[in-house]
Amino acid sequence: MRVLPIANATMRTKDPYAKRALGQNFLINGQVINRILDSFGSKENDVVLEIGPGRGALTEKLIESGAQIYALEFDRDLAPLLHERFEKNENFTLVEGDALKLDLASLERGGRKLRIIANLPYNISTAILQRLFSSVEIIEDCVLMFQREVVDRLTAKPGTSERGYLTVLIEAHFLIEWLFDVPPSAFRPEPKVWSSVVRLLPKTRSIINEELFREVVGRGFAQKRKTILNNLKVWYPKAGELLESIGIDPIRRAETLSLDEWISVVARLELAE
Ligand code: SAM
Repeated sequence: MRVLPIANATMRTKDPYAKRALGQNFLINGQVINRILDSFGSKENDVVLEIGPGRGALTEKLIESGAQIYALEFDRDLAPLLHERFEKNENFTLVEGDALKLDLASLERGGRKLRIIANLPYNISTAILQRLFSSVEIIEDCVLMFQREVVDRLTAKPGTSERGYLTVLIEAHFLIEWLFDVPPSAFRPEPKVWSSVVRLLPKTRSIINEELFREVVGRGFAQKRKTILNNLKVWYPKAGELLESIGIDPIRRAETLSLDEWISVVARLELAE
């Protein structure tokens, strides 16, 4: 069995065992680890999914909280380490698999909703986020770390250039709260950019026609420099009339529309069909 060293503050900036392709930047700063865990507030009777436990920086205290922990790790080389460290704990289950494929509903939850915590692998963080949209009804909350620049996009208000398809989609499904920023020095190896931790709370109002909603928002943002009219009309020729009928100036750009305006566009399209 190959046992990898557990991260500690004495490791160098470079970590020969970290796999860049798997977005492995391991947390080594105890204060940051505690701050993430405090923000999450795991407790007995919770059912927690940790995506990408890595070497267990967050996992250990999650287990100590008494919650039922599912740790989903893709890297087979890390499995022996995680097994060895945590297998004696009855409330710990290692799931060896891919966060982009796992059906969250397949995890045994005893009727409870899932709480999700992760220092996400940055290269696929938004792809993982998009998978969460389709499981909103079984999620209680999430505390997730992304690259700071991704969080800037996720929280961008209407009228700002960072606002995009993903911003609107996340607003449709979750309330997103920025919690704090984390410097590169908190990780080994050090990433080139800062990170941010956010809390996501599922919204109770769900999007009625999810497929159409994604299509319309995706089309609207197809070319960010174009007007909403020019983006939509290649797909829906009567887009100009439709937008005017709900009071949206067709020469606006997609990034200026609020979530409610997108919902109105979709609702009017459904009526028109
Ligand atoms: N939680 C640990 C920490 O904070 O030190 C590790 C975080 S590291 C940024 C991301 C982790 O996600 C790595 O352990 C990596 O192997 C794992 N990972 C990468 N791709 C994954 C995938 N598709 N499914 C599940 N885990 C994945």
